[in-house]
Amino acid sequence: MERKRIYLASPTMHGDEQRFVQEAFDTNWVAPLGPNVNAFEKELAAYTGCGYAAALSSGTAALHLANILAGVKEGDIVFAQSLTFSASVNPSCYEKAVPVFLDSEPDTWNLDPAALRLAFEKYPHPAAVIAVHLYGTPAKIDEIRDICREHGVSLIEDAAESLGATFQGQMTGTFGDFGIYSFNGNKIITTSGGGMLAAKEEAVVERARFFSTQARDPARHYQHSNIGYNYRMSNIVAGIGRGQLLHLEEHLEKKRALYRQYREAFADIPELSMNPMNPKGEANNWLSCVTVAPDCPVTPVQIMDALAEYNIETRPIWKPMHLQPVFEACDFIQVRDGHSVSEEVFDRGLCLPSDIKNTPEDMELICDIVRRQFGR
Ligand SMILES: *Cc1c(COP(=O)(O)O)cnc(C)c1O
Repeated sequence: MERKRIYLASPTMHGDEQRFVQEAFDTNWVAPLGPNVNAFEKELAAYTGCGYAAALSSGTAALHLANILAGVKEGDIVFAQSLTFSASVNPSCYEKAVPVFLDSEPDTWNLDPAALRLAFEKYPHPAAVIAVHLYGTPAKIDEIRDICREHGVSLIEDAAESLGATFQGQMTGTFGDFGIYSFNGNKIITTSGGGMLAAKEEAVVERARFFSTQARDPARHYQHSNIGYNYRMSNIVAGIGRGQLLHLEEHLEKKRALYRQYREAFADIPELSMNPMNPKGEANNWLSCVTVAPDCPVTPVQIMDALAEYNIETRPIWKPMHLQPVFEACDFIQVRDGHSVSEEVFDRGLCLPSDIKNTPEDMELICDIVRRQFGR
């Protein structure tokens, strides 16, 4: 018999989701828009304190609209954190902007404020800056925001992985001019697929809703002065989101507990480090990651292979964007010559199973297998 699969991060449903979806069926609000969409937006805005939010079909759609609202256009330069998922930067390319990739700092693995300063020296007028809270660890977002303000450039805060994580008590996704969240299948809460664009001003979010529903002018006939998109979240999907949001705190507690369990299990292995936390904030610990010391003979691939033998899912660290074939021609800004933090994390790291349905036995098995690689 095949061993039970242990997942990296799979959806966890509770039943409340079905209640909201049933309501949508019962009232025939199956079409896009409807009470669940409005309520999900209000509930997420209240939870995060972001101001206003537009429910969309994906986090990528939210990023695309953030780029459009920030005025990103053909030929513009956009600064983006290199160590991230490609969805952080693809939407800038939809608008034919040119990404310039920035290295991470070692304290949080996120956009290095020093690299951002260097980038502004080389390219004084980017159209936007895209910062990420990778794996749910808050970036040095206060410094990043201050530098963006100094230069009068829009900050797009990709909080796709960090819903519920805070920096100095403030929710991630609420620092930038635009914040974006994702409810993709493996995120901390999921709607099967979906996203949210957040901003402080209602007019900005209203503009996002306008673009997300085909940019129809307020005229009696069908009139369009802009290119629009079909990016709105459906009322069914929003019902799942409302149900999930009721359990976000519970998901956060469990994610944080998994991280602590790994940290304790590996405390006596100096060659193995957990992904960093930001002492000025609280991560949501969406994924627990480890890195192996550079001089250690154990490789991340070896650990991943050992776990795979037990049907345990892992994932490599995101491959930095400046190393991607599709972005070969793009510039990369790092603070120290010949020493790239994003490349080191990519070379030496991996993501461990962070599914909140992992049992204590699952966790013990995972930790044992990892420990064995280090002769423990
Ligand atoms: C998941 C993710 C996205 C994209 O969100 P989707 O809802 O899948 O479109 C963007 N940025 C980061 C960092 C992500 O992890």
